[in-house]
Amino acid sequence: MNIKTKNQSINRRESLRNRLRRNDLENDHHLNLLLEKSEDEIDLANVITALKDNSKNIQYLPLCSQLLTKFTNKALQILERTQEWSYEIKLILKEYEINYKNPPYSLYFAQFKCLTHLSVSDPEAELSINKAIALETDESKQIDLKLELATYYENSSQYQKMKKILDQSEILCKRNPNLDQQLAMTWLFLGHYYFYRFQFQEARDYMNQAKNLLEIICKQEKKENIKILGLFGNCLHYLGRVYFAQYDFVTAAQLYIKSQQMLEIENFPTNKSTLADSNPAATGFYHLRLGQVLEACQLIESADYHYQQSQKLFLECGAASGLMQVSLIRANLIGSYVDNSTFNKKSILEKQVEQIKNAAKDAQAIGYNRGYLEALLRLLFLYLKYGKILDLIKVCFAIVTASEFYQLINPNTFMSGFQLAIGLYGMGPYYIAKLYQKQKHKPRTILKVCPCHDPECRKLR
Ligand SMILES: [Zn+2]
Repeated sequence: MNIKTKNQSINRRESLRNRLRRNDLENDHHLNLLLEKSEDEIDLANVITALKDNSKNIQYLPLCSQLLTKFTNKALQILERTQEWSYEIKLILKEYEINYKNPPYSLYFAQFKCLTHLSVSDPEAELSINKAIALETDESKQIDLKLELATYYENSSQYQKMKKILDQSEILCKRNPNLDQQLAMTWLFLGHYYFYRFQFQEARDYMNQAKNLLEIICKQEKKENIKILGLFGNCLHYLGRVYFAQYDFVTAAQLYIKSQQMLEIENFPTNKSTLADSNPAATGFYHLRLGQVLEACQLIESADYHYQQSQKLFLECGAASGLMQVSLIRANLIGSYVDNSTFNKKSILEKQVEQIKNAAKDAQAIGYNRGYLEALLRLLFLYLKYGKILDLIKVCFAIVTASEFYQLINPNTFMSGFQLAIGLYGMGPYYIAKLYQKQKHKPRTILKVCPCHDPECRKLR
């Protein structure tokens, strides 16, 4: 090789190196620019393109992880985007694995959030959050993650695992005086646990304990804390559900309304937004539960108004379990005077069965066991009402083989669980008898009109 070609080759290598260095700087700059953007400004499609261009380069893995973590909440707002996001996280986690490096715990947590948004029950989600817990060294953050895991177990009806993790969390929180907020959350979730086990007195005790502690924390804090407000709202909402299960409809409705008012407090003075704005599914559940109380008090028109509001909100944010529940509940109203789409008994039954079966399928598809059992119980009462013996036998078989059914078979809770199931899930004759009894002896527990402040609902009175 003569000197000239040798020099040319060195120059070429040098310029290639410079170009790569420049590229590195540009990429670095580009990823950092994206990272500086706010949730409102960012275009997630641009982030995904940037991730695809850079994820193979080990030096960009931390920046890619930060981008994925920072904008997860925005990716959860649209279902297709959530799927894409989860896929990108998986790719980055794989890159960490190939390079024998530990990813940040927050990336596993982001993956958990995406997966649980897509499905109520997913072993991969459980694995992700357990990895996040193992990687996190700060005790307070570790408890936060454990409480997220407890919520996952609650939603996927894995009550024993839920209780175990909450007991662990209660011990850790009591040992550390700085973890009052986590302790209040632990008690609140223990309240949820006893609610789903139909042990209403224990549920009420734990939720009241949580409420008292939250009140103390609120007094200590100088400014409004969004998280505490949200927890407070959740506490009142679940207390409402306990009162509903005990047939005190007036108190239940008051608690739901109070809980929603918490979510509607303007807690960000700069842009006047509220917790209800950032979490439309929570407002959806408010309308759904209030609708149930109204339906239970035979205020069908107001109930249907609130069901429609909840359906609208669930559709907007793609809350799968909410949508399934509202469609299931509205099957009850088919053929009533708020629905004039069907004209004879046969078509009413067919339409109701179809809607409930679709809801059951949806519940199974997302691993929502409680919803699935509720759908089966509603079918059972429908077949009983119309004397469809063959269908009745089939649905009985499906009920006894449903996993959630075994949660009800517990000597301590069987009777209250059974009563709740036939009373509320089925809206059956047992419930009607109970309502008459209440109307006679405790008329103050029954609603005469919807107590909400919504002007559109007030027009229906
Ligand atoms: Zn109303």
